[in-house]
Amino acid sequence: MKDFIWIPLALVPAIMVAWFMLANYLSIVLHRCVAHRAVELPRWWIFTSTTLTNLFVLHINPRTWCADHRMHHAYSDTEKDPDKQPDVSYLQWLWGFFKHSPKASDPQIQRFTKDAIFKHPIFAFFSHPIAGPFCAVTAWLAPFAVTGSWIYATAVWIMIRITGMLVLSFQSYFAHGGDRGWGYRNYDIKDHSVNLTSRVALFLTAGEALQNNHHAKPSRASHAHLSHEWDPGFQLLRFLERVHVAQIPEKPPLAIVDSEAADGAHPY
Ligand SMILES: [Zn+2]
Ligand SMILES: [Zn+2]
Repeated sequence: MKDFIWIPLALVPAIMVAWFMLANYLSIVLHRCVAHRAVELPRWWIFTSTTLTNLFVLHINPRTWCADHRMHHAYSDTEKDPDKQPDVSYLQWLWGFFKHSPKASDPQIQRFTKDAIFKHPIFAFFSHPIAGPFCAVTAWLAPFAVTGSWIYATAVWIMIRITGMLVLSFQSYFAHGGDRGWGYRNYDIKDHSVNLTSRVALFLTAGEALQNNHHAKPSRASHAHLSHEWDPGFQLLRFLERVHVAQIPEKPPLAIVDSEAADGAHPY
């Protein structure tokens, strides 16, 4: 009976820690820094974040993720886009996601990730096919070691993966659902990217649900381009800048202004 009280309560801090670690590793380290070079981070931060997040929260292969993401920008919403092909239903997209399992040794993955950083032993280890199953075990062992409860460890493990699927659904599927009339667009670009308005989606994805802004200006560290748009990942990045971890390059002001958005923000 006691388990039914403390386990749900103790899931809250675990999910909060997981959010911070994944927002930092996925949105800031892998996405904004390594894949796009929109922000500068020291190597010690990149590799410490990579090691701790993969071992204790969720394994995300740094090399295949960055390669897939660069291909996603190069071929957005076409048949060659590894994240989302045109005219797919949500179930087709989910099926495609589970079927998609690229390896760091694939020639296409290597072609999109020639940067020297991918040869570093830490990136190489977490990009190896053995790292996925290995980290699935260590990520379960961590909450088990802290609490001694296999029920709690299993609940944390499952919750993180379910939340991860939700995050991916928001940023890869729904924030590319312009062809289905979802979200709004500030930029009339070639793909189906949109900015989602849901605060839940923006929080969970750490600002990555502002895909239309990001696809229009991929080298900008912030995905929020208008005053009402919210990018929690960039707020975390500003904090890292304040404590002298991150360096955010200055960019010229955007041509888009709030008054233009008030005229309809190009609903798609
Ligand atoms: Zn995208
Ligand atoms: Zn991107």
